[in-house]
Amino acid sequence: MVCDVIILGSGCAGSTAAIYTARANLSPLVLEGREPGGQLTLTTEVENYPGFPSGIQGPELVELMRKQAERFGAVYSAETVTAVDLSKRPFAVKTEENAYQARTLIVATGASARLLGLESEKKLMGRGVSTCATCDGAFFRNREVAVVGGGDTAVEEAIFLTRFASKVLLVHRRDQFRASKILLDRSRRNPKIEFILNTVVADILDPGKNEVSAIRLKSTRDGAETVRKVDGVFVAIGHDPNTKVFEGQLALDNGYIVLREGAGTSVDGVFAAGDVHDTVYRQAVTAAGAGCRAAIEVERFLETEGR
Ligand code: NAP
Repeated sequence: MVCDVIILGSGCAGSTAAIYTARANLSPLVLEGREPGGQLTLTTEVENYPGFPSGIQGPELVELMRKQAERFGAVYSAETVTAVDLSKRPFAVKTEENAYQARTLIVATGASARLLGLESEKKLMGRGVSTCATCDGAFFRNREVAVVGGGDTAVEEAIFLTRFASKVLLVHRRDQFRASKILLDRSRRNPKIEFILNTVVADILDPGKNEVSAIRLKSTRDGAETVRKVDGVFVAIGHDPNTKVFEGQLALDNGYIVLREGAGTSVDGVFAAGDVHDTVYRQAVTAAGAGCRAAIEVERFLETEGR
């Protein structure tokens, strides 16, 4: 059987695309991927998604989207795509369990925030450790936080966090930054930001208490360790788009899918939505909007093909 549309990924972009294509009677199949629900499942409270004036938990929000899509007939399957063939139509999609064929694809495989790889970071994710200042900054009013990284994201997030936090420690492993000079100059003029250079975060305390109370820092110069009290840690060391299976088949830029126009990719019939192509906004609501756009383009594409 050839599916009208297969949606790869089940975060905000994928599930919104599923709601729209299901309501258009296209019976979408959603292959959930390695992180069902996407990055929102790594957050706790979401306060900036429209329609939830009292906020909503990230995992609950993606669960509601999924239920809404299933109500209109979308089918979710706990499978991860291992290979695709986009050189001919229908497109071939392989998972560990199955082989599928599809007239159109919506790629909403997202991006994964790079992590430090600490056990404590994993345990405290969403409980004081965050990968998104825009999402979680407001929870740190009058508190002290650390931002890890030396690129534009880290410096921009440090500046943003000074709106709320009483102090922001910017921890970077070198003394040279990748961040642009203009952002760096702005951050250096900000009295709330303290630069801690040539230093890595060796541990985050205190997983035993289920909250962030301090970070253990280690100098990359002499290995000396210090402990600094903080209430939150923002890991801003970059993102990796989940596009490995599309290498050599879709036009990518730094691993991110390049959009030709609207939600179209370099291959007719393959559309993309969400963080897999978005290096700028990376918000739940913009991913949802992109999912809607991709779904509408799928409908139009199938219509022009007489289906
Ligand atoms: P990035 O430029 O790749 O920077 C990542 C930073 O994290 C680097 O400073 C890197 O250190 C550090 N890092 C990586 N792995 C680490 C680890 N395991 N432990 C400690 N530190 C680690 O990523 P980004 O800042 O997210 O930016 C991504 C792209 O988006 C860039 O092209 C950027 O210009 C763009 N962007 C632009 C804006 C803007 O223009 N306003 C805002 C945000 C992002 P090293 O330097 O030592 O490698």
